[in-house]
Amino acid sequence: MQTLVMKFGGSSVGSAQAIQQLVKIARREQPSTANLIIVVSAMSGITDQLIRCADLAAANRSDEVLASIAAIRARHYNVIEELFPEGRERERVMSVITQRLDELTRYCQSILVMGEVTARGMDVISSLGERMSAPLVATALQASGLTAEAIEATHLIVTDRNFQNAVPQMEASRQQIREVLFPLCNGGTIAVVTGFIAATEDGVTTTLGRGGSDYTASILADCLDADELWIWTDVDGVLTADPRVVATAHSIAEISFAEVGELAYFGAKVLHPKTIRPAVMRNLPLWVKNTFNPDFPGTRISQDSQRQRGEITAVTTIKDLSLLTVEGRGMLGVPGIAARTFSAVARTGASVLMISQSSSEQSICFTITSKHTSDVISSLEAEMSLELIRKDIDRIWARDHVVILSIIGAGMREIPGVSARIFGALGKANINVIAIAQGSSEYSLSLVIDQADSAAAVRSIHDEIIPPI
Ligand code: ADP
Ligand code: ASP
Ligand code: MG
Repeated sequence: MQTLVMKFGGSSVGSAQAIQQLVKIARREQPSTANLIIVVSAMSGITDQLIRCADLAAANRSDEVLASIAAIRARHYNVIEELFPEGRERERVMSVITQRLDELTRYCQSILVMGEVTARGMDVISSLGERMSAPLVATALQASGLTAEAIEATHLIVTDRNFQNAVPQMEASRQQIREVLFPLCNGGTIAVVTGFIAATEDGVTTTLGRGGSDYTASILADCLDADELWIWTDVDGVLTADPRVVATAHSIAEISFAEVGELAYFGAKVLHPKTIRPAVMRNLPLWVKNTFNPDFPGTRISQDSQRQRGEITAVTTIKDLSLLTVEGRGMLGVPGIAARTFSAVARTGASVLMISQSSSEQSICFTITSKHTSDVISSLEAEMSLELIRKDIDRIWARDHVVILSIIGAGMREIPGVSARIFGALGKANINVIAIAQGSSEYSLSLVIDQADSAAAVRSIHDEIIPPI
């Protein structure tokens, strides 16, 4: 293969054993690959811990900050200890990790003084996880006799200033990525690139959103015109449901970009929803594989998936949502209510995940993440104050602790009786459906149900409609 990008997630770099497994995989692919690029996440759990450090510092809980930093230090030092019991490599990587931890300590000290952490500051702190895992992995590759170099993606990917969820500027990024990585890889070096992080034009650190290392990998694959992108994780590929919820969930051999896009959007954590964007445009073959079961082929994602039209692929959920309802008899036939409702929501920065409107136009229901609920209600009440006084709108209210459960598959609409089977299964399990939306993409059907019913609902639908292997 000319150019191969492989991304290893948090658990695939989360321990000395996992990193050794990564090294084995790289050694296997390196001889047949001209340009090998490896993208790494932070060690599993480290990004969460870094964010917690910053939050604790902002809350002036300095003892806990110190304890958290110590835990992050111990986790990395233990891996170094196991991977490099002695030698030059050990000294070098130890000094890099120690520098990063010193940076973390300094940032937390300034947050303690300021009493707050900005989105920009949070990006600098949460970038440290990948800035530690990349040198660790590069050193492990070197120790096995390969040539490898850790590269910070702040030198590769240019984004806007939308901290914590920055948007890459593809043209500027393409140029930098090619200028830095091609000469390096052509010389026989494996580039080990930090996932998740990037920088603005003037070099300020940004991040691409939680779980964003998948996206980093697909940006690199696109910009390098890679032949393939392989996402290495801790399960056998894209599965028919979250394996933590459904014990019988199984790996999907092939799936289309459209279906996997829907799956990622509707909560399957295995791929960041933006990952497929660059891949679709170039029709870049994408594989999801298991680091801990590397001989299993995993899932192939492509434009021309051979799956049967009409097959059901997977069941997913998005948790911690609220269902908001704007209702009133006076809304009937009044133009512009929906537009004003969604403008009021947009002003709070909340995004609407699913909409359902009754045909009588007496209510509009939509789901948002619960952390935005009170802001959204205030914004709607301000927008509709006149209608509320006039009683054209009776109430604006939220139902908390709900989930969106989505059933995904090419041609959902074409299968006669599929909805009947879904609702039959829910009925049998005594589960109440609060709202329904048919995906306009024809790849999904989504239901809103109580969070307490979520696991039972996923299991009963999975048992009913996903054929066993
Ligand atoms: P990584 O750190 O490798 O990016 P993630 O934790 O982000 O890994 O994503 C992989 C996890 O996603 C799996 O361990 C699994 O528990 C969860 N998951 C949820 N839904 C699915 C699904 N449909 N297919 C595969 N994995 C899923
Ligand atoms: N380390 C980042 C996170 O935990 C990015 C990733 O793992 O993809 O969100
Ligand atoms: Mg992930």
